Amino acid sequence: MTAVHHDRTELSVVIPMYNEEEVLPVLVERLRPVLDGTGVRYEVVAVDDGSTDKTAARLEDLRARWPQLRVVALRRNSGHQAALTAGLHSARGAYVASIDADLQDPPEKIPEMLDLARSQRLDIVYGVRSDRSTDTGFKRRTAGAYYWLIRRLVGKNVPSQAGDFRLLSREAVDALKTLPDQQQVYRLLVPWLGFPSGQVSYQRDERAAGETKYPLRKMVGLAITSITSFSAAPLRLATWLGVVSFFTCLAMLVFTLTAYALGNTVPGWTSLFTAMLFLGGVQLICFGLLGEYVGRIYTAVQQRPTYFVASDSGRTAEAAVPAA
Ligand code: UDP
Ligand code: MG
Repeated sequence: MTAVHHDRTELSVVIPMYNEEEVLPVLVERLRPVLDGTGVRYEVVAVDDGSTDKTAARLEDLRARWPQLRVVALRRNSGHQAALTAGLHSARGAYVASIDADLQDPPEKIPEMLDLARSQRLDIVYGVRSDRSTDTGFKRRTAGAYYWLIRRLVGKNVPSQAGDFRLLSREAVDALKTLPDQQQVYRLLVPWLGFPSGQVSYQRDERAAGETKYPLRKMVGLAITSITSFSAAPLRLATWLGVVSFFTCLAMLVFTLTAYALGNTVPGWTSLFTAMLFLGGVQLICFGLLGEYVGRIYTAVQQRPTYFVASDSGRTAEAAVPAA
């Protein structure tokens, strides 16, 4: 059946969206000409991550005018990475690009990524930010610290400054889909796969409209998940903290015994209190660390899906074909 091969989708573009009604028109205006210009058979998989604004309605309107647009709606807000997972699972293309909705990553780079992957037979093409001068100083510094830490803990082949703007081959996507990981952090899982990869550098723009869906709370959450899902080093750190405090207390013991021998035992209050606070602090830190890992084991054991698809316009269309 060569005909089947003939209408294979070459490129899927996955876009997670959470309350992005403001950027949608601008996004379409820039993305569509780029994709139409590639001349390949493509689909856009817009994942509506439980938006509470008019994103869903806007997408529905757009679908009438843009046949290549598919809308995958999730039941509730499941987070950026889960929305990406949903998109990767429904994408059908031989290559799958992922891009944020807010146009911070330029859609114009997608054809370049596709060309590079095809000509060099690469499975992964990272979009690497050459310049983040448009991000706030705070965002840049925290991102710098994040990548520094990640490269030390996870490994050097994590490209720094590579976010979730990238292109994957079908093989790489299928490999990702086999991972049972519950808390997907794709910017770490993708390099971990070990497929041949390349890079395309780009300038990170300012958000085209609307505001960030990544407040500090979520940024810290992503950082903790990134670390604990790839490294047991913090547990080692806890052990070291324990060792250090043990020897400190040993030294304190010598000090106390000497003081006792010399007969001035009463003014020991300060050292006692300090040691107590120090030990208490160390113990709490270590408990917290253990808790992080126990928590990960807990979610892994539960095996709960990270999202539920409420509707997929592509799937319903597909199902309608044989019935007709
Ligand atoms: N996003 C999502 N679900 C969420 C939060 C964000 O699908 O719970 C999407 C969002 O719509 C955007 C992308 O993830 O397309 C990146 O979010 P954002 O641009 O707000 O993050 P920032 O660039 O500020 O880190
Ligand atoms: Mg953004």
